[in-house]
Amino acid sequence: MESQAQRVKIAVQKSGRLTEHSIDLLQRCGLKITRSKDSLFCYGENMPVDLLLVRDDDIPQLVADDICDMGICGLNIVEETRLKLAASGTNALFKQVFELDFGHCRLALAGPKGTHFDGPDSLKNKRIATSYTNLLRNYLKLNSISAEIVYFSGAVEITPQLGKADFVCDLVSTGSTLAANGLVEVATLLESEAIIIQTQAPLGDAKQGLVDRLLQRLDGVLQVRESKYIMLHAPRHALLEIQALLPGAEAPTVLPLEGTDDRVAVHAVCRETVFWETLENLKAAGASSLLVLPVEKMLA
Ligand code: ATP
Ligand code: ZN
Repeated sequence: MESQAQRVKIAVQKSGRLTEHSIDLLQRCGLKITRSKDSLFCYGENMPVDLLLVRDDDIPQLVADDICDMGICGLNIVEETRLKLAASGTNALFKQVFELDFGHCRLALAGPKGTHFDGPDSLKNKRIATSYTNLLRNYLKLNSISAEIVYFSGAVEITPQLGKADFVCDLVSTGSTLAANGLVEVATLLESEAIIIQTQAPLGDAKQGLVDRLLQRLDGVLQVRESKYIMLHAPRHALLEIQALLPGAEAPTVLPLEGTDDRVAVHAVCRETVFWETLENLKAAGASSLLVLPVEKMLA
């Protein structure tokens, strides 16, 4: 059995919005884990890969400090940590690998309904409550605005009602929490989603090989998310038109159909959503016996 140092450690959020998606993604890459309710550690049963379950705020630092080899968390946390490290004169020792297409949100500025806002100048000398002090400071600096940053670690949206702030800078997805607190969004500082980051420390051949394999599988899982396998029958003369209607498909496989002169079977992987309208258009172009199947795995 490999030593602990040779096992890949991935930091994921212990309990929150990103937890289920992160673990589901890794399981789709073939990782089997034992998960005990209170444990901070998930042991990978079939691969030398273990998960460390932590607060999302700690993930970039754990990867930068080389305690974990990889981590999954929001771009918002990654950028906040990067700026915090930069402010203390350190370069972040992690690299962004890719976006994972979940945990979508934005870091936005909001003020009480009716607040005057016609650009960053409206923030001059105002009090802005946030837990993202570094991202906010950076935004103010880029816009040459001097304002007071009031740090709050949670429930930032109630600070204007408490008379503690004039604006808030917080994460928003639907905007319903802001609306429930009588706030309106006035500007976006950062569009965010969950990403996977990797340490910049050299891993050694065996571990790097495993990380590369995992990333290749992740890429495959992400690619097939929207993908469908389409099968249909079509007259040969309509092939060009049919091919043009297949959303995001590369060259399809075309097979002759037994017992017919001009009809063929067309099989293709479509990398974009296949809508009912697409199928109706294909039918109108002469296709029949249309079948749309989910794609489970893909290895380019
Ligand atoms: P922890 O205990 O791990 O610190 P938390 O309360 O900071 O948890 P969650 O609310 O679970 O974190 O959010 C985790 C991440 O989910 C955020 O950092 C962000 O990337 C993403 N996210 C997506 N939508 C939202 C939203 N509407 N509000 C907050 N975070 C969101
Ligand atoms: Zn957090």
